[in-house]
Amino acid sequence: MRETVTEMSAKRYYMIIYLLMVIMIVGLYYKNPLYGEGHVGYYFHLLFAGLFSACILIYPKYKTRVLRWLIVLVSTLLFYTLFLVYPETGSTILLIYFIPAIAIIFFDKKLFYTSIILNHILIVGAIAYIISSGQESLYPNVTGDTVGNIITFIGSQVFLYFIFYYTSERIAKLKLYYEQVKHAERLKTTGELAAAVAHEIRNPLTVVKGYLQLYEQDESVNNTMKKSLPMLIEELDSAEQVISQLLSLSQPAKKLITENVDIQKAINSVAELLQSYGILNDNKIEVVVEADSFIEINKMELHQLLVNIVKNAIEASNVGGTITVTAKKIKDNMVEIKVTDQGIGMSEEQIALLGTPFYSLKAKGTGLGLMICNNIVEKYNGSIVYKSSKGNGTTVAICFPSKK
Ligand code: ADP
Ligand code: MG
Repeated sequence: MRETVTEMSAKRYYMIIYLLMVIMIVGLYYKNPLYGEGHVGYYFHLLFAGLFSACILIYPKYKTRVLRWLIVLVSTLLFYTLFLVYPETGSTILLIYFIPAIAIIFFDKKLFYTSIILNHILIVGAIAYIISSGQESLYPNVTGDTVGNIITFIGSQVFLYFIFYYTSERIAKLKLYYEQVKHAERLKTTGELAAAVAHEIRNPLTVVKGYLQLYEQDESVNNTMKKSLPMLIEELDSAEQVISQLLSLSQPAKKLITENVDIQKAINSVAELLQSYGILNDNKIEVVVEADSFIEINKMELHQLLVNIVKNAIEASNVGGTITVTAKKIKDNMVEIKVTDQGIGMSEEQIALLGTPFYSLKAKGTGLGLMICNNIVEKYNGSIVYKSSKGNGTTVAICFPSKK
């Protein structure tokens, strides 16, 4: 399906390009006053028309940035040549007005702004050239009312900017919407898959782990073999962890009992639980929580959310780094929980990938933690925002509607 669409749009693209080329050829040869006169301007016209055709012909094959900039540059040169070389064809100035519109087709902000600025500089240069070389009478269209023409020109560029701004905004919105739909779809598929796979795998794993634990105590098992048993059990434990995380994802629709949860208590219990985990790398967890902050949530889910975020903060921290957890009421009856670390941090690209299933940069990571967090936050109409810079640490800010 997708192929036929691109095939069709490619067909249309080439049809339009060929039509443009025919128009350019007609312009070059049919009743062209300079044709066969050996005029320098005519050769420029020929050169830029040829270059322009070549660029738009090869563009679908090599959709590179350089080629896009080249197309805008060459068309600028071509249109200004037409304007200056054929003064009697007054309408060529219209082409000049539309030059930045080419950049709109490519949705390239930098290219668009550059071409608007370049167009202003060139139009002033062209008018200055006409006046200084005493050719005003040749361009009555422009010099008849220079000021009026310049105002019209600026107006046309502002108008193009208006079109550009609104189209790019709409496209950005569409893109975002598309990403969200894709994300939701992925979530749904992962959830369904998770339920099926987890059930299939959990039982055999439990059996294997049980036997390994038995062998650990069995006198008849030789010692060399026994040495590797803890490692095997540990591996099974981490597999089990992935499975239980997957399972918790597969039941997002299930309504859990919610209650009025005291944030201070919840955070303190998470900090206490993870203190020993932090000690491994000499990391300290500092808690600064405003008393009397409550949210309506399922206690276990809030716990799971906080454990995941604080654990990530510990895992990102360098030896001796401190993790700060704060919570306070903010405007509009919201409670904000912030978890800050001074660890490795993330780039913008990494932040954009957070919450994608199985996205993990850790050797033993599952890449499911933040996906679960996103699910929980969404379920209770909260929000989660990551602020991070590489090498300087990360702040995760979670907001929930507060409860009296
Ligand atoms: P996991 O912890 O199993 O890797 P998560 O979903 O919890 O999976 O996190 C995904 C990835 O996001 C991590 O592997 C890590 O690269 C990145 N990440 C999460 N939190 C932080 C943080 N506080 N600092 C730096 N990177 C982080
Ligand atoms: Mg994690």
